[in-house]
Amino acid sequence: MPNSLPIVAVASLGGTISMTPSSEGGIVPTLDAAQLAQSAPGISGIANLRAESLRQLPSASLSFDDLMAVLAWAEKQVEDGAHGIVLTQGTDTLEESAFFLDLYWRHPQPLVLTGAMRGASAAGADGPANLLAAVQTAVDAQSVGRGVLVVMNDTVHEARWVTKADSLSTGAFSSGDGGVAARLVEGTPAYFHPPGSRPAPIPFPKGVWPKVAIIPASLGDGGELASLAADNGYASIIVAATGAGHVSYDFAERIANLAAHIPVFITTRAASGSTASRTYGYVGAEMDLIRRGAHMGGWLSAIKARLLVVALIAAGVEPGRVGESVSNWCKLRSH
Ligand code: ASP
Repeated sequence: MPNSLPIVAVASLGGTISMTPSSEGGIVPTLDAAQLAQSAPGISGIANLRAESLRQLPSASLSFDDLMAVLAWAEKQVEDGAHGIVLTQGTDTLEESAFFLDLYWRHPQPLVLTGAMRGASAAGADGPANLLAAVQTAVDAQSVGRGVLVVMNDTVHEARWVTKADSLSTGAFSSGDGGVAARLVEGTPAYFHPPGSRPAPIPFPKGVWPKVAIIPASLGDGGELASLAADNGYASIIVAATGAGHVSYDFAERIANLAAHIPVFITTRAASGSTASRTYGYVGAEMDLIRRGAHMGGWLSAIKARLLVVALIAAGVEPGRVGESVSNWCKLRSH
């Protein structure tokens, strides 16, 4: 029967939210989007749902091509009148999918990602509540124009800041320094600030996805892995450096050699905080690495810097312009 409820298109991609016990042991993805939608009490009173299963994968096995297919599906749903989009997927790479899709999302309609920390048949399964909260967020007028959002544990996060900060807790997601966007109160997201500025969407990829490596720096490490990655065809290196963007003397030497050929970004391996640019001057510190041709990642985590660099190179940005493009993007996407 026709009604005036908003339309929300829901797609499932797999993950714990869709997982039930297997005869082989452990939980595996089995539930489809329609089954997930049925599991959330009251959801049909909020929106007319169009449920579709696009993938049935653990989230580490999602690919950039999968996400581009999801993006095309979501765009088609908007063209066909959806007021909001909800995607369910595994939480392990939820922040990556959210950030990646946000780079390309050009519609004011909310694109909301959610998942679960407990399997569908576990005591206290959080999937149904998360899905309900995601739909409540997707239909809310205050969610419009905020790009891609993540809703977990009755909290709304922006793709720019969200991170999985705990491996197993139902409160696993955090927005670190940027702060959460909203909390759901009695089924409505209460936003703490208006939508921020958003850079223009990154143009769609022109060819194959470039390989971009994240290389951790650690005590006693000379950066050999970074050179190995470059020798094996990686188009750019993201260093998850110590502190505010620091590596060993030997690693600094390698960065000078690498940065002469490919874009090298320095991010922090610390759980929060930005890289510095003009505090430390010793060999291997940020001022030295900048002199050697590296770019500082600022507030971007290594994971998110990698996705941004992948998207920029795939869009055809020349290697010598990638650093500038990253820094322009960051200036425009503070919130
Ligand atoms: N543990 C994961 C989840 O929360 C599995 C995955 O990411 O697919 O869904």
